[in-house]
Amino acid sequence: MQFQDLKLIAPILKALEAVGYTTPTPIQEQAIPIIFRKNDLLGCAQTGTGKTAAFAIPILQMLSYSKVKTAKKNIRALVLTPTRELAIQIEENFNQYSKDLPLKSLVVFGGVGQQPQRDALKRGIDVLIATPGRLLDLYGQGYIDLKHLEFFVLDEADRMLDMGFIHDVKKLIKIIPEKRQTLFFSATMPPEIQKLANHILVDPIKVEV
Ligand code: AMP
Repeated sequence: MQFQDLKLIAPILKALEAVGYTTPTPIQEQAIPIIFRKNDLLGCAQTGTGKTAAFAIPILQMLSYSKVKTAKKNIRALVLTPTRELAIQIEENFNQYSKDLPLKSLVVFGGVGQQPQRDALKRGIDVLIATPGRLLDLYGQGYIDLKHLEFFVLDEADRMLDMGFIHDVKKLIKIIPEKRQTLFFSATMPPEIQKLANHILVDPIKVEV
């Protein structure tokens, strides 16, 4: 299979060529069509499988199709991930694939000053990549509006649990719109993670690699 077979738009195909990807990985082959069909997804995949592109590419394509022409950019996709390193990598992925799209991504995480993050949020973004603590902190201060969210990605759910972030995740679930597309990724599926998945996904399609 080629990326063209996944019905990707020209600016994304060009960006993939620029980063040197020739063919989709198994998780990309399976997940991208499911996401395009607007299904919720339960992805059992480790880091290194290409799972970031498996959600970033279809989200960017769907956001660019339905570009809402408002003066202000709203946060339409939220990616929640447990560590700063992962958050930075995910933002790099989004930026690479959206090089030629009118979409803006931002990453926020703790342990650094808040002001640059607040300023960037005020300017408006389409995609927010965040670690749970800083996200809730900035949300509590009124800098983050999640009312227009269309996509919610929970990345490395099992690590969220290991790192003690599960309460933050549950808090966030109560804040975001119920009507959304949810993509849930975890390397392992212990009972508590399965329970969380059942709680936040609607008729998900499972992909295992
Ligand atoms: P991830 O599992 O998302 O952390 O990705 C692992 C690595 O694979 C990253 O360095 C990606 O840039 C790279 N990658 C993702 N998709 C592809 C692909 N289709 N072909 C080659 N490399 C890829």
